[in-house]
Amino acid sequence: MINMRCIYCDSPGPFDSEHILPRCFGTFEGEQHLENRVCKCCNNLLGNTVDLHLCRSGPEAFFRHYLRIKGRKHHGEFSPYESGPAGRPAAAVMIPYPGKDFMALWELEPGTHNVHLMRQVIVKDKQGEWHPVHVRDSIRTPEALLTLVSSIMDGKAVEVNVFWEAGKEDWLPELVKETYSFSSFNSEKAEMGGFNARASIKLTARPEYFRGIAKVAFNYFLQQDSSINGDEPAFDAIRSFIKDGGNIDRFVRQTSDVLVDVPPGMWFSQYGHILSVARVDGHIRAWVAFIVGPQFPGNKYYVEIGRHPSRILLPRPQLHGHYYHYFEEPTSGHTGGIECLTPGKIILPIGRTPGS
Ligand SMILES: [Zn+2]
Repeated sequence: MINMRCIYCDSPGPFDSEHILPRCFGTFEGEQHLENRVCKCCNNLLGNTVDLHLCRSGPEAFFRHYLRIKGRKHHGEFSPYESGPAGRPAAAVMIPYPGKDFMALWELEPGTHNVHLMRQVIVKDKQGEWHPVHVRDSIRTPEALLTLVSSIMDGKAVEVNVFWEAGKEDWLPELVKETYSFSSFNSEKAEMGGFNARASIKLTARPEYFRGIAKVAFNYFLQQDSSINGDEPAFDAIRSFIKDGGNIDRFVRQTSDVLVDVPPGMWFSQYGHILSVARVDGHIRAWVAFIVGPQFPGNKYYVEIGRHPSRILLPRPQLHGHYYHYFEEPTSGHTGGIECLTPGKIILPIGRTPGS
């Protein structure tokens, strides 16, 4: 069945072991990888583009940090967020600043979906890339600020924007003036109130992020259906979207579909991700929900994978689902485990609905 050719570029290898969820999401006890499907070259290429975007942008990045999920070294090191005062979770999510071409760090108000702007500098490097840097209370000298900024980006800053909480005096503008002598300097008070973080998730993401979601869904489907290799012509379109991009709406959409049948008033008491795939009327459809857990309903996507190449129509939808959940403490080298989601049966520890 396995033709030993890379499903993306048709090269005869060498191959890499392909993770279903990117490695930055953690390691899950008992997880199986896709073998002999993706060559080392494509694996690297996709890892440095689509996986990276999935790992570094959107609520996934924030929650990975919040849950202290360590990925591969070069992924895991990226952390513009940091722990807040005791009792208050580290809370920041990267969302574009309205009307600007850069992302800013926002704090999630505990128990809500509202966000507000964190105190930060958003620094442009020589290549024109913007880097938001949260400036915590203890950073009070130019040396400390320069050290902090250089831990996030390479080289010298060419432009600096300063943001702090609306309606409050702050020491940061003065400190930035002392630190950066050049004149290209913008200082702007955040005038934004809270807004709905869920509504802004779409804005957060670059196309690579959606390709990353499609890749997770496609990987999961390939793992669940052993009759499929992945290089079949039926999947030309989704492979091309994952590899080169294309019309996002054709493949990936945000959804509010209910993925699991949880009794009213109950909800997951730990964080995790739900992957599920169904074969409906010959079509393969996947649902991916990231960060389902006590304070968050999950960031849910529907992915259209393609027509199943088998001509046999199944009488009932064939449904597979798994819950990749995190342990409170890493156990035997794993950040979490995997539970099978049997249709109509919840076998997971569940608590109360978020906010109730
Ligand atoms: Zn390849």
